[in-house]
Amino acid sequence: MATPAPPITEPDPSALTSSGDQVGPCTVCHRKTRRYGHGGCPLCSYCFADASAKWGRA
Ligand SMILES: [Zn+2]
Repeated sequence: MATPAPPITEPDPSALTSSGDQVGPCTVCHRKTRRYGHGGCPLCSYCFADASAKWGRA
C-alpha cells in the first residue's frame, strides 16, 4: 500500500534542503519539490515513488 502523502501545501522534504532556484512545482501534484540541479526531479518524492513503482514492473 502506498504511504499517504501529506497535503500538497506541504513542500517535499527535498525542497527544504534546496536553494530557492532549484525549487519548483511537481508536474503531477504541484507540490514544491527540488526540480533542478543535482538530484532534481520534475516529480516530488511522493509522485516519484508512485511512478517508479509502476515503471519498475515494465
Ligand atoms: Zn507530486
